[in-house]
Order: sequence, then structure tokens, then C-alpha cells
Amino acid sequence: MSKFDFDLFVIGGGSGGVRAARVAAGEYGATVGLAEESRYGGTCVIRGCVPKKLMVFASSYGDAFEDARSYGWDVNDGPFDWHNFADKMRSELDRLEGVYRNLLDNSGVEKFDARATVKDAHTVKLSTGEEKTAKHILIATGGRPVRPPMENAELGLVSDDIFDLPSLPKSILIVGGGYIACEFACILHGLGVEVSMYYRGGQILNGFDDEARGIVSEQMRQRGINMHSGASILEMEEREGGIWVKSTMGKEKIFDHVFFATGRKPNSDDMGLEDVGVKLGRNGAIEVDEYSQTGVPSIYAIGDVTDRVNLTPVAIREGMAFVETVFGSNPTPVDHELIPSAVFTQPEMGTVGLSEEEAAEQEPIEVYATSFKPMQQSFAGRDDRVLMKLVVSKKTRTVLGCHIVAPQAGEMIQLAGIAVKMGATKEQFDATCAVHPTMSEELVTMRNPVRTA
Ligand code: NDP
Repeated sequence: MSKFDFDLFVIGGGSGGVRAARVAAGEYGATVGLAEESRYGGTCVIRGCVPKKLMVFASSYGDAFEDARSYGWDVNDGPFDWHNFADKMRSELDRLEGVYRNLLDNSGVEKFDARATVKDAHTVKLSTGEEKTAKHILIATGGRPVRPPMENAELGLVSDDIFDLPSLPKSILIVGGGYIACEFACILHGLGVEVSMYYRGGQILNGFDDEARGIVSEQMRQRGINMHSGASILEMEEREGGIWVKSTMGKEKIFDHVFFATGRKPNSDDMGLEDVGVKLGRNGAIEVDEYSQTGVPSIYAIGDVTDRVNLTPVAIREGMAFVETVFGSNPTPVDHELIPSAVFTQPEMGTVGLSEEEAAEQEPIEVYATSFKPMQQSFAGRDDRVLMKLVVSKKTRTVLGCHIVAPQAGEMIQLAGIAVKMGATKEQFDATCAVHPTMSEELVTMRNPVRTA
């Protein structure tokens, strides 16, 4: 009989926490408790990837109606009904939350609908007043969007609020140039909102391949998003008709809403972590080693609260590696190398490995790239351009990076990511027969480098 109430207590019922709890209980027979203060499914399911992707789908129909006419269909594009869509989206999220709850129940995890804090190395305190002990504690509390430190910032929305808008605004100013800013700029523009973007840098999507972000930016602009680089808000106030904003460009304008997409922060506040010896780093991220273990041996942390690579599938893998390490007696470090990801802008961007700029700093490279008008959109009279790009090591011929800007780039990069992760060389890409006619066939047919560096 264990001296603890549980073998494992998980704090946070998002993608990472739920996976770790389920596998520990279901596959290893561990006794597991899990506390969630909000909704099961966490950021990804409730206020992130899933509703965002549904909105991406919804917003793509405007173009589809237009294009359908070019293909001979006699269709009219009536107005978009936000209420109709949002009600359906919320029902879908309720359904998914139910799925997450059932998954936990079916694997024998005991759920606590409460906030949990850490009392000592083996004890959690619940907001219900109960205390539970566990041999291991796993913190998977995720992160939350943050507003910049400025006067009246609370007048601005953050990404969590977008899914609960009572109606679609006529105009919105999005501040930031990262994943969330760019994705929502495209979504809201596609739904008929007049979108302006202020980003403080010279270009959107900092950290991604320059050529790829350039093409995304150019097409966002072409579609009618008012993009302003090197721009920030100086002052903002609530005024009749919306939010009045004065920018660093000297312009004043009233928007229905301002939306801050200026980054996220780990949810580690007021959890008692530092009192028990868990170290918090920059931005409040829980410091962990390669096994997701904190400086307190019984306490582990995974997912966005550790601010390593803030992506759902990474949190899930960190959860699985934790269970394998602790319950499978097989120390498993988390592999954070060559993680493919996609930005769901219109067009999408898919990327894996090093950008051209990062690779060129590391070693001599060859760049293979082609940019062209894709057949489907070109026929419909659009000016959209696609980018297919491989960054190749001159010495080993390994493909160090693959960057795709195209409709469905997320789907393409998942598959190209396998080859890049396996260490495929340019010649191995070329040895693969093209699938014709597709956009991605260009990845295996680029003969000559466009440049070397
Ligand atoms: P990002 O870090 O991607 O972008 C934040 C943006 O806000 C940057 O443009 C940054 O500028 C800017 N910024 C930061 N602070 C300020 C400030 N004080 N004033 C003005 N601008 C500021 O964060 P996001 O919130 O977009 O996304 C968070 C994370 O969530 C992502 O990094 C990603 O890991 C994950 N995510 C993944 C998605 C996907 O996989 N498709 C989708 C959405 C989120 P600068 O670049 O100059 O620092």
C-alpha cells in the first residue's frame, strides 16, 4: 500500500497533462489524479488550435465562392453569419471537452474540477480545500496571452476573447506579427472584417525563413490587410465608436477593437512553486532538464509552462516521454530537434529545420527554391504565389530546412518533415518520383541551386 494518495497528480487538463495522465493510468496501471480549474482540453482544444482552425475553414469560403464562379459555377456569396457559425463552433468545443473528460474517466484517472497549487514536494492543495499527496507531481498548466505593459491595455482583446465575440467587428487593429497575429489577421479578413496590423519589427513572423515570411506578408497585403511594420501603439482610449489609437507613425484612428497578439506567458504564478524549490526562469517558465524534471525530484513540468517549444504535439510528446521515464523505467529525453510546424495564414506556411539565414551561419549551403502561380488559383485569376524551398548542406547534402508557402502547406510539411527528420539528402529527395500535377512535386524536381552561401 503506497503512502501517497496517488502515484501521479497532474495539474492541468490540456493536451499534455491529459495524455500523461491517461497513459500513466491506462498503460502502466498508475493511480492518477488530475486537477483542472477551467475546461478540459486546455488552450489547444478550447481557445487555440481547434477553434482557430475551424475559423480558418470558415474564412476560406469567401475565396472559394469567388473561385467557384471562375470554374463555371453559378453561386452567390451571401453574407457570413457569425452567430450561426460561432454557436456551432462552441457546440463542437463542448463535444470535444466531453471527449477529453471521457478519456480520463475511461482510463481510471480521478478528476478534480478545481485549481491546484503545490504545497510541498508530494502534496497539492485544491481550491476545494482538499489536499492530495502523490509520489510524483506533473505540472502542465500551459500559458496565457499577455498584453503589453501600457496604459489602457485592458481595452484590447487577446486571442482567448476572439472565440467569444458576440458579433464580428467591422474593423480591428491587430498588434504583433507572430503566429497568432498573422493567423487571425487572415481569418478575420476572410470573414469580412477590415483588418489593420501593427508590428514593431521590419517584417512579420520573426524567426522564420526570410524568403517565406516575405511571400506570406506580400500576399496578406495583396489580399487587403493593412500591414504596418515598425508600428506600435503610443496611446489608446475608449471613445465613441470604438477604441481610439495613436500610433508611433503619428496616425490617429478609431477601431471597433484592438487585439493584442503580443506573445504568451507560462501559467506558473501563485502556484507555490518557488516556495517548494522549483525554479522559475525568464518569463515565469518552469526550469526543467531534458527529462522534464524540475530541481525538486518528485516534480516534473511539461508543455507551454516550461516555454520550450510551445506547440500542442510537443507538449504531448513531453508528456509521453515523462511517463516512459517515470513509469516505464526507461529514461527518455524529449527530442526537440526538427519539429515541423505550420502557420495557418492564407496562404499557409509550413516549415521544418533551419531557415536559410540560420543554416548559412552554421555551414556552407545551397538553396533550391521556386516560386510560381499555383494552377488552381491561377485559373481562377488570382495572383497568389507558392514557394517551395530546400536549404541543403554543401558538405553532407543533407536537407537542413524545408519551407513551403502554399495552400495546404501544413499538410505538405507533415510529410516532408519525415524525410528531413530522417536526415534525407537532396539526392534522396530527387530520387523520389514526382506526383503530377501537384504543387509539392517541385520539392523533388529542383535541379539547380538558386544561390549558395
Ligand atoms: P509570437 O511570439 O509568435 O509573436 C509575438 C508577437 O508580438 C511578435 O511579433 C512580437 O514582436 C510582438 N510583441 C511582443 N511583445 C510586444 C510588445 N510589447 N509590443 C509590441 N509587439 C510585441 O507569439 P504569439 O502570441 O503569436 O504565439 C505564441 C506561441 O503560440 C507561438 O510562439 C507558437 O509557439 C504558438 N502558436 C502556434 C501556432 C501554430 O502552430 N500554428 C498558432 C498560434 C500559436 P517581435 O517579433 O519583434 O518580438
